[in-house]
Amino acid sequence: MNKLVQVEVGGRGRYGEFGGQFVNEMLMPALIQLEEKFEKHYPQTSFRKKFENLLKNFGGRPTPLYHAEKFSELIGCRVYLKREDLLYGGSHKLNNTLGQALLAQEMGKNRLITETAAGMHGVATAIAGNALELDVGVFMGTRDIDRQPSNVKRMELLGVEITPVKIGRGVLKDAVSDTLREWASCSQDTHYLMGSTVGPHPFPEMVARFQSVIGREIKNQIIEKEGGLPDAIVACGSGGSNALGAFRPFIDEDVEFYFVEGGGKSLDADNSAAAFQVGAPGVIHGALTYTLQDEAGQIKPSKTRSAGLNYPARGPQLSHLYETGRMKACYTFDDQVFEAVKMMAKTEGLIPALETAHAVAYMIDNKEKFGRYETVVLNYSGRGDKDMDTILRYFDDENRGKI
Ligand SMILES: *Cc1c(COP(=O)(O)O)cnc(C)c1O
Repeated sequence: MNKLVQVEVGGRGRYGEFGGQFVNEMLMPALIQLEEKFEKHYPQTSFRKKFENLLKNFGGRPTPLYHAEKFSELIGCRVYLKREDLLYGGSHKLNNTLGQALLAQEMGKNRLITETAAGMHGVATAIAGNALELDVGVFMGTRDIDRQPSNVKRMELLGVEITPVKIGRGVLKDAVSDTLREWASCSQDTHYLMGSTVGPHPFPEMVARFQSVIGREIKNQIIEKEGGLPDAIVACGSGGSNALGAFRPFIDEDVEFYFVEGGGKSLDADNSAAAFQVGAPGVIHGALTYTLQDEAGQIKPSKTRSAGLNYPARGPQLSHLYETGRMKACYTFDDQVFEAVKMMAKTEGLIPALETAHAVAYMIDNKEKFGRYETVVLNYSGRGDKDMDTILRYFDDENRGKI
């Protein structure tokens, strides 16, 4: 167990042993208020209507469920892609940022703060903030700012105030800690918009509910197309928001869950992001959950070429689904991921995000797990335009031959 463990202050929000509120006492009033307001507003018809209107007319929902025939043939089962790449912004992230921005507005807050690594969540937060007339401040590690110039420019165009985080290694986990600290002092008029199903309660639950629009749509669409539920759902992830969004409406059904993490270069804690494989339960950012850590219990940075999977921890509900055997924890390595991008582009004409390509690569390398008459939904979490530089560099610079 992590030695940095703070004491658990609030006792809410457990999934089995995972989750909780391991935070500084200063943060508790903000978390309690957030939970109360979320539980009050979320079930209300007026809130639902506003959220649905934003998702539909601003975001472009429902996203299609596409029967990928060529890919199906390659795998040897019926594969449907849930096209979150077609949501405005290019990934599922907007479902969550619109939901939380709307909640912030209902709570009378006028500012959103968040942290971002690759910049994608920062951009999605800025989009939602502007749509709902809320100011947006983004904390970003100094190293990440240097590595992600185009998303920094996008955020600037959207009017975001970017705060460079210099502490620690200047990467995401440091930015999260800084943002939580900042929030304790400004929560009166500011909402902290958490980017995935991680952090102290109520964030994991709230983000999962906003994202579960994905799974509800899958259910309706697959029943319409196939006359029943799928046999399995495959999703990539890090914190787990797109995966849980797809899984949640099926938790009590006879549907298998495959969760694919970033294996990175190899399966050891110095070269991977696969916390279920090489990590252990520990406390990170206010929750007890699976995380990469060293022998002394210090959080270790994750390593994968896919920026969106570079968070060292898995969310508490995912950890619980894994530990109880309800969900299979899988992984795939960077080399397979880049090959999967190429394959998807050539067979289906779709360029997946590197994160999404983890789910694609897993299916390609594990065809035998999917039977001829099975129906599998792959949660196609995002598009690859943002990754073109990384993809080209991989195939060009490293002498791996032509694309
Ligand atoms: C951010 C991102 C992810 C990983 O985040 P989760 O919260 O684990 O879903 C996956 N796919 C895409 C396209 C992303 O942008």
